[in-house]
Amino acid sequence: GYRKGGYHAVRPGDRFASGRYVAQRKLGWGNFSTVWLAFDVQSERYVALKIQKSAPEFAQAALHEIEFLSEITKRDPSNCKCIIQLIDHFKHTGPNGQHICLVFEFLGDSLLKLVQYNRYKGIGLDRVRQICKSILVGLDYLHSELGIIHSDLKLENVLLVSTIDPSKDPIRSGLKPNLERPEGNPNGEVGLNPIEKKLQMRARRVLAKLAERRKSIAESSRAERSLDGIELTCKIVDFGNACWADKQYTDFIQTRQYRAPEIILGAGYSFSVDMWSFACIAFELATGEMLFTPKEGHGYSEDEDHLALMMELLGKMPKKIATMGTKSKEYFDRHGDLKRIRRLKFSSVERILVDKYGVPESEAREFADFLCPLLDFAPEKRPTAAECLQHPWLQYNDDKACEALNNGGASSVDLTHSTGNPISGICKNV
Ligand code: ATP
Ligand code: MG
Ligand code: MG
Repeated sequence: GYRKGGYHAVRPGDRFASGRYVAQRKLGWGNFSTVWLAFDVQSERYVALKIQKSAPEFAQAALHEIEFLSEITKRDPSNCKCIIQLIDHFKHTGPNGQHICLVFEFLGDSLLKLVQYNRYKGIGLDRVRQICKSILVGLDYLHSELGIIHSDLKLENVLLVSTIDPSKDPIRSGLKPNLERPEGNPNGEVGLNPIEKKLQMRARRVLAKLAERRKSIAESSRAERSLDGIELTCKIVDFGNACWADKQYTDFIQTRQYRAPEIILGAGYSFSVDMWSFACIAFELATGEMLFTPKEGHGYSEDEDHLALMMELLGKMPKKIATMGTKSKEYFDRHGDLKRIRRLKFSSVERILVDKYGVPESEAREFADFLCPLLDFAPEKRPTAAECLQHPWLQYNDDKACEALNNGGASSVDLTHSTGNPISGICKNV
């Protein structure tokens, strides 16, 4: 990773964009980049700094992501559409080459972490509802206003937003940025140029100001912080694989478990592939387990197992759809039956929710009624995000949930990790 063409090595205190962003600690990484919490000296808030690997193919991917994010951010000036906002982008030269860097608003943990912190037991249907609403608002915006297909929706790519947002108010959140530059900077930047000097002076002033305001707020914010995250809004991130509905780059998209049947069949796709993945996410949040986990077996491929699992849960795929794709002949015979997996054990979403996960019958029925139309084998029959937002299941129980929260809300969901971790992590660097 950390070699020519690869990741850029960062240490807390390293500066970027002529000193505007000061690295704090690593937030995460992917195949393309490392992502750092950074303090933006200019706007006095925390941001997420994504530093792309430097080789040309990664630079190309970053430019691609910037194209989509710029459009997304430009058309949503009030930042209420549940999609990550791009704040800035620039190039940074280091020992491993030139890295394109993207600056985002700083968000919380991913939905995957939320599920992990709850020990894969599901997070409760009221919270699933809240999160579903946010994701649907985001998808509706992407699909109907921008014409963008995300094409890689999964738990890792949806991040929580805290009620108290440290990125907007570092002082309220009780965080103190680390603005000191480490000795012997590995990037070989010695001494400060005049712009950097100015920014450093500014940074010192900011620090002093922060310390002052922090003292008075620390006490009063403690009570509020216990409610942190309860709203459970979230935002969709990672547009590295996005495409325009009318300008697609590849036939092969989505992460395996969230992949729609038309992708496996090679039958073309549109916005409704995101709706399929969305249903997979909703199920996983509710149960703590993935809806489909296909595996290669003796005499059949992972793709075939995936199609079999889909049919066992959702019923037999109509012959017309099964035989429509460029890859249909690999899996199906001319009667529309799977060639290599003959005996299917049919069940239903509702049955699985009740029998395997112990969801009460009536709740299971209503939730299945929400999910199943999204899992229609016919892509054009799946509800749009806008239609989905009108579904009774999303309206259901809101008042009751509100009541529960106002009464101190007996909740089995452990939120402390999801919002506590980034904060305690930052404090280590202070
Ligand atoms: P992938 O291999 O999934 O394409 P990537 O290199 O494109 O990864 P991202 O998925 O954009 O990188 O980000 C990597 C990780 O960094 C995320 O999973 C998340 O944990 C963290 N992260 C990204 N953006 C933010 C943000 N705005 N706020 C907080 N954490 C973030
Ligand atoms: Mg990612
Ligand atoms: Mg990516």
